[in-house]
Amino acid sequence: MRATDVLVIGAGIGGLAATIAMQRAGVRVRVFEQASELGEVGAGISISPNGALGLKSLGVFDEFRHVAYAPDYQVVRHYRTGRVLATVTRGDRLEEAYGERYYVVHRADLHKVLADAVRAHDPDAIVTGRRCVDLEQDASGVAVRFDDGRWERGDALIGADGVRSRVRSILFGAEEVRFTGYIAWRGLVPMADVPLDALDPPSQVWIGPGHMINRYPVSGGKSLNFVAFAERAGWEEEGWNIPASKAELRAEFADWHPHVTRIIEAAPQDKLFKWALCARSPLMRWVRGRAAVLGDAAHPLLPYLGQGAVMAIEDAVVLGRAFAESEDLAQALARYEAARVGRARLVVERSSLQVPRFHADDPDAFHHDVPVDEALGLFKYDPAHAPV
Ligand SMILES: Cc1cc2nc3c(=O)[nH]c(=O)nc-3n(C[C@H](O)[C@H](O)[C@H](O)COP(=O)(O)OP(=O)(O)OC[C@H]3O[C@@H](n4cnc5c(N)ncnc54)[C@H](O)[C@@H]3O)c2cc1C
Repeated sequence: MRATDVLVIGAGIGGLAATIAMQRAGVRVRVFEQASELGEVGAGISISPNGALGLKSLGVFDEFRHVAYAPDYQVVRHYRTGRVLATVTRGDRLEEAYGERYYVVHRADLHKVLADAVRAHDPDAIVTGRRCVDLEQDASGVAVRFDDGRWERGDALIGADGVRSRVRSILFGAEEVRFTGYIAWRGLVPMADVPLDALDPPSQVWIGPGHMINRYPVSGGKSLNFVAFAERAGWEEEGWNIPASKAELRAEFADWHPHVTRIIEAAPQDKLFKWALCARSPLMRWVRGRAAVLGDAAHPLLPYLGQGAVMAIEDAVVLGRAFAESEDLAQALARYEAARVGRARLVVERSSLQVPRFHADDPDAFHHDVPVDEALGLFKYDPAHAPV
């Protein structure tokens, strides 16, 4: 395909991964980020084998591996008694079965690996402090208007601007972003402040009525990341990602095991935040003319299978392959959409179905022989070789 000039909106994990994938296909890419500085929130993220295979095909795996932790196994525990309800093997066995392991990583570390790769290819590719407010397209190209009044023009546009995507609203209608009824707190505890007996093993999920906590080491073992989930009737606070008080978290998990409550107590107040988990209906079309959506902009999902960023990486790899293997832009975008819509929809639906399993009224009834993400076959998808 003749070299193309593509504009990407949003430099999150999805936008940066897509930029690398298209750069590797010979496309000139400029990615515009609304934040004045590039970065990611202070929290961890899991990258399952299908995501790790995607990072490998983007040529950033060694750098990723350097900052990620690959647990051999994880345990699921009862919120009050601490009893091990399930042991989930995540190490060599996954590598043998799927070609890669299961990793956990600080989001900022993964984000930096991706941004470095983009800039190594083109030092000027990432432009910060530019918020997309509008776009227009015609037979010859796409034009984007930014909040500073300036316009940029390209042959095509990828909206990777997250769950509240402006690009999606412009292309497919301004459907409201919906609060799902779930909120998540995130905290980072210096490892020196974590009780040693709470680290056996380092990676653990705790489940109880209406609540769940997932916690694992990040940043080369310097910090323990935790994400704590709860159910709420509404979200009345300003913003969707805001500082949280330890008192509310303490109250929410008051009757939980000391290995949970002591970690909450040890969390520095300035590293506690909460997110409202939001949704929009899954889209059946991702492409309109010369513009397409990717990542949470296309398919926001609940994080109960840990697949949101992984799906954005899968999207990115498939998009890059579609560019590399197509004769023209229309064919590339059509192939991208056809290859990804069904897969994403399945993972969105399956993620929602996990809530009662992990917010368990009766944790003692929790059991699985094969972890649910693996049993669903999610790891069998290799974005570098899946049909495009
Ligand atoms: C609590 C929680 C835990 C999670 N855990 C996991 C996990 O373990 N594993 C996993 O794979 N996924 C996980 N996810 C999901 C994952 O975080 C998201 O799916 C992923 O970050 C989506 O990436 P994205 O690049 O599509 O969107 P985003 O990360 O939202 O990035 C969008 C970017 O676009 C920018 N932007 C927005 N609007 C504009 C605009 N108008 N103009 C310019 N720039 C704009 C934003 O500033 C941002 O930088 C979790 C999510 C939550 C909430």
